[in-house]
Amino acid sequence: MFIRELFRQKRFTLSFEFFPPKREGNLDGLFATIQELSALKPDFISVTYGAGGSTRERSLEIASRAKKEFQTEVLAHLTCVQSTKDDIARILEAFRAENIENILALRGDPPAGTEKFIKPEGGFSYASDLVAFIKGMDFFSIGVAGSPEGHIEAPSLVEDIKNLKRKVDAGADFIITQLFFDNHFFYRFRDRTLAQGITIPILPGIFPILNYKQVERIAGLCGASIPQSLANKINKVRDKNEEVEKYGIEYATKQMEDLIRNDVAGIHMYSMNRSEPVQCILKELHLPRSPR
Ligand SMILES: Cc1cc2nc3c(=O)[nH]c(=O)nc-3n(C[C@H](O)[C@H](O)[C@H](O)COP(=O)(O)OP(=O)(O)OC[C@H]3O[C@@H](n4cnc5c(N)ncnc54)[C@H](O)[C@@H]3O)c2cc1C
Repeated sequence: MFIRELFRQKRFTLSFEFFPPKREGNLDGLFATIQELSALKPDFISVTYGAGGSTRERSLEIASRAKKEFQTEVLAHLTCVQSTKDDIARILEAFRAENIENILALRGDPPAGTEKFIKPEGGFSYASDLVAFIKGMDFFSIGVAGSPEGHIEAPSLVEDIKNLKRKVDAGADFIITQLFFDNHFFYRFRDRTLAQGITIPILPGIFPILNYKQVERIAGLCGASIPQSLANKINKVRDKNEEVEKYGIEYATKQMEDLIRNDVAGIHMYSMNRSEPVQCILKELHLPRSPR
């Protein structure tokens, strides 16, 4: 099913994100997790796309197996990194052949060891180019990324939202946001996108903190700010993994509770390939609820 259709049918969607493991052996563990979380009947799951190498092929394998084995709708991520238009066309054909109907069109981060994203020879400069290309195939429902605090390379949030509008104008059907730890950023982003004439659904991306190192790494990568109170609390228990995870789950639960109260179109949870924390949060929130 096209995800754009889902938004016509439901007022709230729930989705979980997974990433391909680097090592072959971990695939069974991942499928066990997807199976457990699929049992919660998410509206869709998404599978990330690696910066290069073998995890790319795994993205296709995971997306296709998840759809067949767990009858769950799938959103496959795709980036422009190190790919020509022909490469992208081949990958999209492979997704189509596996009946994957939804693509999250991304530019991708600069390849490891490089500072700046450089347009690959014969490839795309921005996610908006990829969106236009996919739209031209007239087959997929297309999602794009949004950054509530502004993309790390953007000169300002205003400029970044203008660029987000280019993706929408090129044919995006919905937006999934970068993680954030302060809901005010999301509400400000929602207001500003609306003011720019962006009316497609926006799914906030929620990331439960599960260990201390993650926080620093992720925030450094995507520029998400950590509220002082959260930083203090996590810092106090930084050496006790269980305590960090417990607090991370509690924090994400509160964030989601507040977002739901503020009428979001749905929530996309970064599962980090773990089932228990997601289950804990959803139990607390009595989700998924029956369709409204
Ligand atoms: C939900 C989600 C899922 C993700 N999944 C993956 C994944 O699976 N694999 C992966 O490698 N990465 C993933 N990422 C990370 C993403 O690839 C990075 O954030 C990347 O740096 C930017 O991608 P984008 O699609 O937002 O790029 P773009 O929309 O192209 O934006 C990149 C930068 O260029 C600017 N820009 C855009 N258009 C123009 C223009 N016409 N002129 C000037 N400036 C412009 C933007 O303001 C921004 O600063 C994900 C991010 C999110 C939020």
